[in-house]
Amino acid sequence: MTTESSLRADIVEVGRRMYARGYTASNDGNISVRLGADRLLMTPKSVCKGFMTPDMMCITDLEGRKLQGDRDPSSEMLMHLEVYRQRPDVQAVVHAHPPIATGFAVAGIPLDRAVLAEVLTTLGSIPIAEYATPSTRELPEAVRKYVKAHDGMLLANHGALTVGPDVYAAYYKMETIEHFAKISLVARLLGRENLISREEVMRLQELRGSYGIKAPAPICTDDQTVVDVCQVVQAPAGDGRRLIPDDVDGVVVPPLAARDEVSPKPSAKAEAEIRLTYRELSALIEDAIRSLK
Ligand SMILES: [Zn+2]
Repeated sequence: MTTESSLRADIVEVGRRMYARGYTASNDGNISVRLGADRLLMTPKSVCKGFMTPDMMCITDLEGRKLQGDRDPSSEMLMHLEVYRQRPDVQAVVHAHPPIATGFAVAGIPLDRAVLAEVLTTLGSIPIAEYATPSTRELPEAVRKYVKAHDGMLLANHGALTVGPDVYAAYYKMETIEHFAKISLVARLLGRENLISREEVMRLQELRGSYGIKAPAPICTDDQTVVDVCQVVQAPAGDGRRLIPDDVDGVVVPPLAARDEVSPKPSAKAEAEIRLTYRELSALIEDAIRSLK
């Protein structure tokens, strides 16, 4: 099998996995790989990524001119070209709309809290690139700011983008983002995320080398650092502790399993809240009208 034909087969397989896992619906998403120094192999526009065949792919140059293929290249080609321009080390780009991660992108909540050691060592942080109209020149501009320092990011009100040294590595980062988003969502539903301390985050960063992880930028735990040179992670000072209990949005909610055992005394918030059935509310309104007459 030649390199080109094996790369075509890899794109087909990654597209099939993305569609099977629900990361794309209908014709969403796109995938590309470098084919030598000055050419790209890319998924075509308007095809379902779950049902592609190797012959469907387009070959373009790094300016986006089509060199080969019956179909036109992906409508998000400009975003792919920008990534290759900014990151000479990147060999493959994957874009999809995995639903939980995209939910965070819609809510405007980046996946940048120090929560999972393995995500910290691999992706560092997952920021949100500012909203841009899909398939326009705005999208590469939004992505440019973050792609120098990050291998994965959310796209505001759109989806997610990952890059890697080959198409499987880029795809696995997409899996990691969606998996991390799921875990973050569950932790937030349970009411608390215990955060990994700043000191422990730095220890994990030192382990990147021994795991053979080549990250495009170091992790920083300082909000003031610029996102194009650093992976900014939200991690509190530990003062000797490695895990720091942290409530979500300032509201401490007991874990679901503990709620039945919690004292029945209502909280200040619950006391302030009155719940009425429709019948009770109607009766109150009727009473009020009667007293006005
Ligand atoms: Zn998209």
